[in-house]
Amino acid sequence: MESEPFENEQTVFTQQRDETMDEFHRSYDRAIETLKTTLGGTHSLRIDGQPVETDDHFTVTSPGDTSLEIGRFADGTADAVDRAVTAASDTFDEWRGTHWSERAEIAREAADRMSDRKYELAAVLTLENGKNRTEAMADIDEGIDFLRFYSRELERNGGYVLDTGEPTPRQHCTNHLEPFGVFGVVGPFNFPFAIFSGMTMGAVLTGNTVVAKPASTTPLIAHEIVNVLSEAGLPDGVVNLVTGGGRAVGQPLVEHQAVDGVVFTGSRDVGRTIQQTFFEQEKNGPVIAELGGKNPVIVTANADLQKAVSGVKNGAFGFSGQKCSATARVYVEEGVVDQFTQRLVSETEALPIQPPEHEDAFLAPLIDESAEERYRSICDAAREEGTVLTGRNTVASADLPDGRYVEPTVVTDIPHGHELAREEHFLPFVTIHPVSDLDEAITKANESEYGLCAGLFSEDESEVTEWFERIESGMCYVNRHQSATTGALVQAQPFGGWKSSGTTSKFAGGYWYLPQFMREQTRTVVGEVGRQ
Ligand code: NAP
Ligand code: MG
Repeated sequence: MESEPFENEQTVFTQQRDETMDEFHRSYDRAIETLKTTLGGTHSLRIDGQPVETDDHFTVTSPGDTSLEIGRFADGTADAVDRAVTAASDTFDEWRGTHWSERAEIAREAADRMSDRKYELAAVLTLENGKNRTEAMADIDEGIDFLRFYSRELERNGGYVLDTGEPTPRQHCTNHLEPFGVFGVVGPFNFPFAIFSGMTMGAVLTGNTVVAKPASTTPLIAHEIVNVLSEAGLPDGVVNLVTGGGRAVGQPLVEHQAVDGVVFTGSRDVGRTIQQTFFEQEKNGPVIAELGGKNPVIVTANADLQKAVSGVKNGAFGFSGQKCSATARVYVEEGVVDQFTQRLVSETEALPIQPPEHEDAFLAPLIDESAEERYRSICDAAREEGTVLTGRNTVASADLPDGRYVEPTVVTDIPHGHELAREEHFLPFVTIHPVSDLDEAITKANESEYGLCAGLFSEDESEVTEWFERIESGMCYVNRHQSATTGALVQAQPFGGWKSSGTTSKFAGGYWYLPQFMREQTRTVVGEVGRQ
């Protein structure tokens, strides 16, 4: 049977722009200038629609210019979490009682408002987390797409209610997916718009209420999201925002008895701790976690090397490698490894290092001091245990503001099992490994606890087929010169990982995402009373 393509209304998606590049640059530059004049305020928690003060605050500065203060943010505590969870619990019955079409309408309205304000939101991303303009806009577009796609999925599935027939006469059966209750949402710094809004609205569209904690480095964009949701008509108490640290806010949120499920995107270690907490506390709700990656790319002797160099450079160094999908290790067939490596090094050295809001910026400053320390430490280790072909320096110059700028780094002569080639670093750091053939390359690519993204460069049909059959990875890309492993689009390329890269094996921006936020109920009625 031929499968029917799901109606693919790409035109509803923001990824296709209608403005010219000139208009894009002008609007973005204006938004940056305006934002710079308004930054530096103090931001409370947001519980039951109201601002809630805390005793302490933390200050966020811009990674590209640490003299620029993004703002002062309420430093949440376990008490604040408790208050927010209570608000979410109190709102649950009313929210689950709203019709699914009403929830979808609010999400669509929010998406439209985000779209209207996309330059303003992209500017917040650039200054708060260091994304260049195209990557910042892609993050905003992706968030908007999540909202539109999930709304459409909710509708397409009729709110996830099915008539399952009459197994015997007069016995009427329906099958329902029902919300769990309160979800804790814990987000990462690297897609603080798309992933934070996607996770939050996954929970909310399916009838749950939420207490959300953004990464400590990106609280401002979380406030923007919550503001838009509220303006779009989301009732108070459905999404409550508690800013603060992982241990001070994230942990008590996960441990709170009234939190039924958690949706998390971040590192493997924190994700595992959350799962462990759920297990120890005998909670039955889901831990929907998208975790790390150590994404392998294979370049065979049959590759178009120009495509391979471009794909690896963009995959490894876009947003300076601070993506779960970043290209991290490259297995190259011996016959072409020298040529590939030389070209990669020379293209890497040509990448300019600029403030992220600059029109030609490609690389990004590192998010925080601990990332910069990790960079120094792995570059030192690489110099001792392998060969650093280019990179390994932090960059300061008179032309650059005082930010965390570092060189993209290409390393070789590191054994494939070494921790530099095994652990996720989340930095502009890529290791190159010669291999004798495709079989060795695939075996080594799969020798990882992660299985998020993978790339192949080969013009040979049988190599492509073999790779698809054997590669252990959630997202697999062939000859993607735009980027070997990063840059998935909602709906077309659902995003998630195998093995330790995720906990549910169902992907964000995909068709099986929403049902994870619900539990199944079979309803049987004999006779006519109570039939809906
Ligand atoms: P992270 O350090 O794991 O932090 C993620 C979130 O967890 C932050 O909000 C953090 O708060 C919080 N947190 C820290 N400790 C916690 C605890 N004990 N209990 C509860 N929450 C806690 O990750 P990140 O540095 O923000 O992001 C990088 C990681 O995210 C990488 O591993 C990357 O691969 C992964 N990631 C995966 C995907 C995917 O879709 N698979 C997408 C993006 C990122 P603080 O910020 O306050 O520490
Ligand atoms: Mg972190």
